[in-house]
Amino acid sequence: MTGEIIIENDENEFKQGMKHEDAKKLGNVFSTDRKDMTMKAKLKTVYTVLAKTQLPDGSILGLKDIKLSLNSDPNNLGVYNFNYSTQMHEINLDLQSKGWTVENIRLTGGIHEYFGHGIKGWGDRIGGTGGTHRKIYALEMDSKYWEKATSSMKGNIVRNYYRYSYWETNSNAIPKV
Ligand SMILES: [Zn+2]
Repeated sequence: MTGEIIIENDENEFKQGMKHEDAKKLGNVFSTDRKDMTMKAKLKTVYTVLAKTQLPDGSILGLKDIKLSLNSDPNNLGVYNFNYSTQMHEINLDLQSKGWTVENIRLTGGIHEYFGHGIKGWGDRIGGTGGTHRKIYALEMDSKYWEKATSSMKGNIVRNYYRYSYWETNSNAIPKV
């Protein structure tokens, strides 16, 4: 499974790695903006994609300890919180309208939020000297999902990798991966 998530009747029509315009010719492209889908259906769609994420340690994500939400958030593609009372990793995703591809969901929800913040415990909101957020962006660039991520997503990751490297290492040298 890769590329655009197309909601259509014949799953045999699905082709890998197609452009958004081509995907739209086959069916309705998934977006949280869609008015004809309930939130329950949207969550199920994203959960289905996220559950099969292969993590950097080789394991498959699963979902048993994840609580996903798809709330609108103009400031973040993803937000991570660990809920100590429920012991659940709480992840909110708000990829942009053309950003809901399989690779983007897995990079942001699976690699960045769940594995980077949740399992590794890296990163903080401030990103000051000594911080570790840059390591999460490096993980995303090393991931098997990187190549087919959208160029907008790649740009976001590269920019953040450079910004956090600057803040966290106090150096504006081109960072080493
Ligand atoms: Zn982060």
